[in-house]
Amino acid sequence: MISTIKGDITGLDFDLIVNAANDQFLPGGGVCGAIFAAAGPALAQACAALPKGKAGDVRITPAFDLPSKAVLHAVGPIYEGTKQNAEDLASCYWNCVALAYEYMREHELSRVSLAFPCISTGIYGYPHEAACDVAIRTIKKIRSAYPDTKAIDIVFVCFEQIDYELYKKALRSL
Ligand code: ADP
Repeated sequence: MISTIKGDITGLDFDLIVNAANDQFLPGGGVCGAIFAAAGPALAQACAALPKGKAGDVRITPAFDLPSKAVLHAVGPIYEGTKQNAEDLASCYWNCVALAYEYMREHELSRVSLAFPCISTGIYGYPHEAACDVAIRTIKKIRSAYPDTKAIDIVFVCFEQIDYELYKKALRSL
């Protein structure tokens, strides 16, 4: 199942929630700040031990005080309008689904739930519509290349009305 809701990702008791991370995996603003605040100081400690990343990389940590089970930290691209930006954003979504699948297998689960924020569309400046298009196209692509990933229930959590409208429209035409 792929769906969208409007709200705050930190309150969701999903198996996995995605953080729109920076390449240092440090506490930041926006959704990243909200996730670190709600998870408690142990998350910043866990993230400090992670090897630094680059746009498109994803790392997993426990979720500590959050209601979810683990956090996938996806390094979104800083928008400059390049083709590479789109590829890096697609890598964020692709790598999150791949890691969620690994998590499902490791924990011997038959399904997992995965919640995405609209990566890069805040402080990193990626245009909302183009980012939504990359997200939906990438999810469609990985589900068709690896049908077992359909056992991952995906929710796009939109904090802003503009994103909620875009995702509702895009999902209607899936
Ligand atoms: P980035 O640096 O990747 O642009 P931001 O956190 O600035 O990350 O923004 C990414 C998206 O997350 C934006 O659409 C923003 O509205 C949204 N956002 C901010 N806070 C939350 C939250 N608590 N839950 C879900 N989404 C959020």
